[in-house]
Amino acid sequence: MTKYIFITGGVVSSLGKGIVAASLGRLLVSRGYKVSIQKFDPYINVDPGTMSPFQHGEVFVCEDGAETDLDLGHYERFIDTYLSQINNVTSGSVYQTVINKERKGEYLGATVQMIPHITGEIKSRLLAASKRNNPDILIAEIGGTIGDIESLPFIEAIRQFRLEAGFQNSMSIHVTLLPYLPTSGELKTKPSQHSVNVLRSYGIQPEMLVLRTQKELSDNERNKLSLFCSIPKDSVIQCKDMSSIYEVPLYLEDQGITKQILKTLNLEEKEASLDDWKDLVYKINHPKKEFNIALVGKYTELNDAYISVVESLKHAGFKHSAKININWIASEDIESDDEAKNKLKNADGIVVPGGFGTRGIEGKLKVIKYARENNIPFLGLCLGMQCAVIEFSRNVANLKHANSTEFDKNTPYKVVDLMEEQKNIAGYGATMRLGSFPCKILKNTKAYSVYKSDLILERHRHRYEFNNEYKETLKEFGLTFSGTSPDGLLIEIVEIKKNDWFVACQFHPEFKSRPQRPHPLFDGLVEAIVKQKEV
Ligand code: GLN
Repeated sequence: MTKYIFITGGVVSSLGKGIVAASLGRLLVSRGYKVSIQKFDPYINVDPGTMSPFQHGEVFVCEDGAETDLDLGHYERFIDTYLSQINNVTSGSVYQTVINKERKGEYLGATVQMIPHITGEIKSRLLAASKRNNPDILIAEIGGTIGDIESLPFIEAIRQFRLEAGFQNSMSIHVTLLPYLPTSGELKTKPSQHSVNVLRSYGIQPEMLVLRTQKELSDNERNKLSLFCSIPKDSVIQCKDMSSIYEVPLYLEDQGITKQILKTLNLEEKEASLDDWKDLVYKINHPKKEFNIALVGKYTELNDAYISVVESLKHAGFKHSAKININWIASEDIESDDEAKNKLKNADGIVVPGGFGTRGIEGKLKVIKYARENNIPFLGLCLGMQCAVIEFSRNVANLKHANSTEFDKNTPYKVVDLMEEQKNIAGYGATMRLGSFPCKILKNTKAYSVYKSDLILERHRHRYEFNNEYKETLKEFGLTFSGTSPDGLLIEIVEIKKNDWFVACQFHPEFKSRPQRPHPLFDGLVEAIVKQKEV
């Protein structure tokens, strides 16, 4: 039987609830429990696939092609698991199901209402997640801040669910902020007390508080929160700002959080095996070298827009005991080769990540040209591969004005074009080539040297693809097609042999990297940098 942990947030948004949830997942797994995790987002979009990365950050893609909240990326990385569509629920998807049922007449003439129909659908999503792989514990994180209108149906559904599932089988953890007032030198507890009061007014008494703080929580503050929030002192846990998110599980464990959770849920307190995680954190905190990697994209004002790419670079750094500094470069600021050179002069490696639309493309092409001509280790991801192909076509294969039809419908050389099956699709939601597909790897290539396998599986999210009409020409000029779909028709990886590391892929390897197991392509990039620096 599955036990449930419900995580809500209070006082402010962007508290790092996702990291707390993911860290708890890691801690419970380390005690031998089978854990799954689910995110509930209160917005009306059916999924974040149609939302701008500027607003919402990265869209994380699961194996099954679900376009999900970026917190699922944290969950997968911390727990080392694969999640799916069922693990990301939005108000939009809940309403859609209920309205579709109503249209089909499934409610038999009843008035369809928030309670019981919307709340019922939310509860059934919880049950569906607990049926997938039968976890011992399901962690459910509710997006937004307590008091928001949007999240009310979720909170009400949890209240009902806890009653129905039996209170000993679930717990509520409220994550809040303790603001620090420098003038009085104090962490202020009042906003958190109020937030707990709001949660109680909805019928939920939390069993645990996790407090985001800049400073150490004093005994006095802990006592106050315990007393006014009716939470045992041992379950008032602080979560101070850490230099690395991967330190959070150990920091929480040191305060006895897992013990308290297992006690609350009436689960046996098994021994923790966290040695490998401790080794990881040791490595993170004791780097032996430092590299600068330029991340050249369109959404550089919001770092969350490329969070999985950034984490993947860090993972590869951990393996090589290297601290990776990310130099954020907005591609639209680069208008000439000189500007590219100037902006990239400190870059030990260059990454051009995925993206959509024309803005900043010419800048990306200049950056790729610089990487190719100066043998700077380069990794192109999705749009980054398409740009690498365009750059190579224009500047090496002399196909003047070669382009993707996404950016120029009238280009004389459509080296990247809309995929055949995309041509008749009208809508925008969940209509791309999405999710995990097999890819065949050519022997004696850079890709093969890191994957060490003929067949791999990688996650996709794109509409355009390399146009095979140009394959032979580009091959003659020295572009290697090292990965294709098993039927050979879709180009998945390209590389340039004579460069130390110039590899670009149509898929998104960043979704499968793990802190203790960096993705081969990111590992290859960092390894190439290590080797260049050794000389
Ligand atoms: N815009 C490109 C396409 O749709 C690339 C997508 C991406 O980078 N995820 O094919």
